[in-house]
Amino acid sequence: MGIIVTSVDYILNNARANSLWPLTFATSCCGIEMMHTVASDNDIARFGSEVFRGSPRQADLLICAGTITHKMAPVLLRLYEQMAEPKYVIAMGACTCGGGMFQETSYSVVKGIDKIIPVDIYLPMCPPKPEALLDAIKKLQNRVKKESILTRKEFMDSHNSFLHETCGILTEINGG
Ligand code: SF4
Repeated sequence: MGIIVTSVDYILNNARANSLWPLTFATSCCGIEMMHTVASDNDIARFGSEVFRGSPRQADLLICAGTITHKMAPVLLRLYEQMAEPKYVIAMGACTCGGGMFQETSYSVVKGIDKIIPVDIYLPMCPPKPEALLDAIKKLQNRVKKESILTRKEFMDSHNSFLHETCGILTEINGG
């Protein structure tokens, strides 16, 4: 049984890790660096992640590039919920990770998207270079390769309870 599970894990994880398809999602200047990562100089296709999708149902990687406002937060949550399982999140840029330059001065910016959705990799620079995003994708690939289908249910249950809490927070924020 152990040998079978290990073999299935190995095949699934390698296929999954080398074909992380990102959702086309950028809200401000970090998005320019994300676009640069796709261009020929950096060539994200070397890591199997060049297939940016327009629909969350066809994507399993959310690279959140840019500021998220409170008004945008429910949209971010909805997109995340619509993505294919198993799904992963890279928080790209200081604004996404913790509010960045708007942390002290803005009432409208969310102080970190981990208040809205679970984050797998944080990339807190302003802005992160394409090389840094590629490094984050490689780190995520290494994490995906170590997953097991036996622990997956536990992981998803913890995500679901997190989302229930988040829905409550967003209802309060938006006065629902
Ligand atoms: S981290 Fe810097 S580059 Fe990225 S969205 Fe914020 S201000 Fe723009």
